Amino acid sequence: MNVSAAMNKFERKPKFVQLIFVDINGVPKGMEVPISRLEEAVETGISFDGSSIPGFQGIEDSDLIFKADPNTYVEVPWDNVARVYGYIYKDDKPYPADPRGVLKNVLDELAKEGFKAYIGPEPEFYLFKKNGTWELEIPDVGGYFDILTLDKAKEIKREIAEYMPAFGLTPEVLHHEVGKAQHEIDFKYDEALKTADNIISFKYVVKAVAEMHGLYATFMPKPIYGMPGNGMHLHISLWKDGENAFKGEEGLSETALHFIGGILKHAKALTAITNPTVNSYKRLVPGYEAPVYISWGYRNRSALIRVPAFWGNGARIEYRCPDPSANPYFAFAAILKAGLDGIKNKIDPFAYVEENVYEMSDEKRAQLGIDTLPSSLGEALGELEKDKVVKEALGGAYRNFIEYKKAEWEEYLDYLESKHLPKDTKRVTEWELERYFFI
Ligand code: GLN
Ligand code: MG
Ligand code: MG
Ligand code: MG
Repeated sequence: MNVSAAMNKFERKPKFVQLIFVDINGVPKGMEVPISRLEEAVETGISFDGSSIPGFQGIEDSDLIFKADPNTYVEVPWDNVARVYGYIYKDDKPYPADPRGVLKNVLDELAKEGFKAYIGPEPEFYLFKKNGTWELEIPDVGGYFDILTLDKAKEIKREIAEYMPAFGLTPEVLHHEVGKAQHEIDFKYDEALKTADNIISFKYVVKAVAEMHGLYATFMPKPIYGMPGNGMHLHISLWKDGENAFKGEEGLSETALHFIGGILKHAKALTAITNPTVNSYKRLVPGYEAPVYISWGYRNRSALIRVPAFWGNGARIEYRCPDPSANPYFAFAAILKAGLDGIKNKIDPFAYVEENVYEMSDEKRAQLGIDTLPSSLGEALGELEKDKVVKEALGGAYRNFIEYKKAEWEEYLDYLESKHLPKDTKRVTEWELERYFFI
């Protein structure tokens, strides 16, 4: 689609357009240019200084180019601005640390095998009153699936859902989650790259609408100790020749089973990318429906990979580990690469469970070959360093990612030491709230 065709689908033509990419943390960054420069942004690109973007270049060599993808053009309904996503270039070549480019490379690799990936996310978030402190004042007392007066945020959720189509998202389900003031809004699955863009747009819409109501929305994986965490389950399927390649004669296909095998094999290293913050590991503890053990099962919500009871073209797997602090481009790239490794090397899935894994004895888990997920960011990074396949998924972004995340982990350890807190505390610290509340 060219610029005018893309713009003609919208009405207002605001005077400015935001050119958006994400940093290593999946946080949207960008610049605004007059809308008259959009054509140039698409054709030749707009140069910018990437020196201070987390996970990008150092100051010695930081001239980058942003090239807009006109298919992603939307107009923000409540603001006089349009937005587009795009790819980053350096010296006329795709910039290796650009998360969107990293995902595109893995999708191209899948395409060579004839596959197209579709992903549907289930992002969860909390709404907090703004009170200027970290004393989190919770604005409602509802629980899972409460729809009556206990859900104080139902109008807010509806408002979010009403704005979503303007950003190219199709809302599907709105509901209260288990935690007080915790919510979930699911939107329609799409091709992997589009879904990754959609997650960035979704978080933006949720935060913006919350602010209109004097609230903060947080996607932090575990904002409060003792309350459920925010997950982002991913429903994944691969398609080939217009057919769902996960659909078997009965149940799942071989391709799907091998895909599961690949994910299970690489599960430990994957967490470094799908659960990339110190705070992520405070969610992955027993008691809150978040995965702890590496296993898979049909319908089983205690497993890391659940196979929902949808067959035919609805066949898919649900990966329950990821949380909304993940950079979705990196997370999808890593998961798909691990699954593809399973397909190429015919890795059979292991650690099948029908019972609740949390309630099993350690001996029983050992018998079934059920291992545990990393219990900290530090441990997960160690696993990533050992996993060639998952490292390769990040391509040219790997070096920056591992260095950046190791520094984050070290900084946290220093903080714990300075506060005389135990190294393995599962309590949520002020350091985490400051660093992750707004991601
Ligand atoms: N909040 C849970 C998690 O951390 C998921 C709960 C649910 O969706 N049933 O993954
Ligand atoms: Mg759900
Ligand atoms: Mg949920
Ligand atoms: Mg789910």
